[in-house]
Amino acid sequence: MKVKILGTRGKIPQSAPRHKKYSGILIDDKILIDVGEEKYMENDPEAIVFTHFHPDHAFFVFNEEEFSPEIPLFGPEPQELVPTLKVITKPFSIGDYHFTPVPVIHALRLKSLGYVIQKGEKIIFITGDVAWIEKANLKDLPKVDLVITEASFIRKRGMIRRKNDQIFGHTGIPDLLRLLEPLTSKIALTHFGGWFFKDISESRKKLKALETKDLQIIPGYDGMEIEI
Ligand SMILES: [Zn+2]
Ligand SMILES: [Zn+2]
Repeated sequence: MKVKILGTRGKIPQSAPRHKKYSGILIDDKILIDVGEEKYMENDPEAIVFTHFHPDHAFFVFNEEEFSPEIPLFGPEPQELVPTLKVITKPFSIGDYHFTPVPVIHALRLKSLGYVIQKGEKIIFITGDVAWIEKANLKDLPKVDLVITEASFIRKRGMIRRKNDQIFGHTGIPDLLRLLEPLTSKIALTHFGGWFFKDISESRKKLKALETKDLQIIPGYDGMEIEI
């Protein structure tokens, strides 16, 4: 499987030459996960799967334009701007790619899903934005060859807010590593927050310093390709 991380910038004002674009991940030049930039459509994807409908993952939400390319579109909940969206309720396939949705806690008013994507022997897990993932939703997952998760905050616990019983926001990288490490030996990071842009080479070093002998950490950049 060839995984291309098209954009690595979180929804923040900062930007840098290799971290200019919002979220999007292209699998084998065929399947696009999130469309943070209209330009990603130039890849001519055969299908699109959304993690959630924040505008940095679905560019058309910024301007409230309708989005209706003539390809299969999948997402966690109905979205009025995407009339042909198929709402995911269970595992599904796109050609040879088998998707298992994983419920993710992230936003107060939006549903979010992560996806375990399997093709043949190869398996990856893309989390999207994460306030938290219930351990019960991870316990039956297989070992995966690569996890791609977010990096909004490097501090522990990130920025989690609370309303009534619900938490929302973004957890910290240390928390994500602790949560996801049992699933994999390779974690790629994208969706960088403001902390990352202060001194990018220093920030990359900070991320590499979190590696252990059992866990490789891959700081992403716009256009990075990972072959698994
Ligand atoms: Zn989000
Ligand atoms: Zn986001």
